[in-house]
Amino acid sequence: MADVIPFRKPSLKEKRKGNILCRQGHHKWELDKAKQFDVKQGKLVTLYRCVRCRKQKVTLL
Ligand SMILES: [Zn+2]
Repeated sequence: MADVIPFRKPSLKEKRKGNILCRQGHHKWELDKAKQFDVKQGKLVTLYRCVRCRKQKVTLL
C-alpha cells in the first residue's frame, strides 16, 4: 500500500538536526574568505556561510 502524500518529507537527518538550531537563529557562521569582495557593488564585504543550512549573510565593511 502506497499512500500518495502531497507533502515532501525532509529525509536528510543531519540537515534537519542542524536546522533546529538554525530555525532558532543559532546559525554556525563560517567566514568564506573566497568571497570577500562583492563585484556587483564594488565594495569590500565579509561573507559568512552557515555550515549547516548553507545560508549566507553579508556584512559590509
Ligand atoms: Zn544555519
